[in-house]
Amino acid sequence: MGALQRTETAGTGAAMLTVDLGAVVANWRALAARAAPAECAAVVKADAYGLGAAEVAPALARAGCRTFFVALTGEGVALRRLLGGGPEIFILHGPAPGEEPMFAAHALVPVLNCAAQAHAWAAYAAELPAAVQVDTGMARLGLPPAEAAGLPHLHVTLVLSHLACADDPADPANAAQLAAFRALRQLWPDARASLAASFGIFLGPEYHFDLVRPGAALYGIVPTAGPHPIRGVLRLRAPVIQTRRVPAGAGIGYGQTWRAPGPTRLATLGIGYADGLPRSLSNRGGAWLGERRLPIVGRISMDSVIVDASAVPQAVLAPGTPLDLIGPMAGVDAVAEAAGTVGYELLTRLGGRFARRYLDG
Ligand SMILES: *Cc1c(COP(=O)(O)O)cnc(C)c1O
Repeated sequence: MGALQRTETAGTGAAMLTVDLGAVVANWRALAARAAPAECAAVVKADAYGLGAAEVAPALARAGCRTFFVALTGEGVALRRLLGGGPEIFILHGPAPGEEPMFAAHALVPVLNCAAQAHAWAAYAAELPAAVQVDTGMARLGLPPAEAAGLPHLHVTLVLSHLACADDPADPANAAQLAAFRALRQLWPDARASLAASFGIFLGPEYHFDLVRPGAALYGIVPTAGPHPIRGVLRLRAPVIQTRRVPAGAGIGYGQTWRAPGPTRLATLGIGYADGLPRSLSNRGGAWLGERRLPIVGRISMDSVIVDASAVPQAVLAPGTPLDLIGPMAGVDAVAEAAGTVGYELLTRLGGRFARRYLDG
């Protein structure tokens, strides 16, 4: 048996997620330029879509972002600690009953989504700034038009709504929501208005109003089928932890769902579904060695995944060699599509086990 036939193992080597904060900032600047003269906020809920709000939010604040959105009160409290007193922080879900004092203590601006929430806020602090969300056709959060007219006295500084179908510019729901929003915002003539998230920004200037609220596009999810300025921000790499040769007919992985069609060289990588690598990429996804795609064979395991490495010389694929699961050759959208999901879910499921590295601009 020559060296080329031997099975080799490297016991060490965690997967590594690299987040390019310079690219996040560049994406925010490009979106701000596209939306101007509207202001461009940043949505950093769910730990900045899994990338790390503790690094992403201060980088955006340093670049000049003054307005942030998160979903939950606890996210807002943590963000206020991180950013200090300057930026405005909106809580998309508004206060749960009894949480109003936390909003005042941390200068969080509630997004009021129903009459009950609005009445509770008015009873607590009618003079403090508040946002109201109106439902213009998504039926998720926000006041139905009939409830919007009957609110108590509030200091409303922002009225917002959310688009259901902005990922399809041809969908007539976009224009219908735009018309409904134009009518409803008249209820608060002194408030600023906000309708567009990432995809809405690319529907055209009439969707921009005073403030746009991108999340996804900051993180490299491409919000249009047309030309765009969005840069990839993530690189997810995992090291080879073992290489082997198998004969024709060998069964690969749990359930032996893949069989080697001929003598095959395999590499096992140190990343699995516990790290957020979707199990649905089993027998479908790939890992990249530079520009070369090595197909994932067999089922993805909790801590490891096997690729067919027959196409590359063993010498360049020793234990320890890093391969890209997400990176220059396979962006978030492409990997998500192969996995049967969307970039949003892929990002927010990135695990907490691998090492993280942040590149400054
Ligand atoms: C999450 C969210 C956003 C950001 O949406 P993206 O598609 O990620 O840009 C904006 N507004 C509301 C109300 C949201 O829930």
